[in-house]
Amino acid sequence: MHLTGRLLVCVPTTLPAVFPDDRHGVCAICGQAVRFRPHAPAESTLLCVRCYLVHVDPDTPCELTSESIDELNAWLAAPESDR
Ligand SMILES: [Zn+2]
Repeated sequence: MHLTGRLLVCVPTTLPAVFPDDRHGVCAICGQAVRFRPHAPAESTLLCVRCYLVHVDPDTPCELTSESIDELNAWLAAPESDR
């Protein structure tokens, strides 16, 4: 599938939220409601993770901000009782 612009891979809202300040949108391919971090480029084309894996060439770059990486690392490092 050919998609233009920046691609932002998002988590479907069917999965539990990790961060309370996520923004919400819709997958450009399947229409699934998705969530993404507030500092991600808002003009990106939103894709749910399933559509990214199924429909997009794996060599196609997607957005992942350094803030997102830092947040996820902090979440993973936190004790499960604090998540
Ligand atoms: Zn999708």
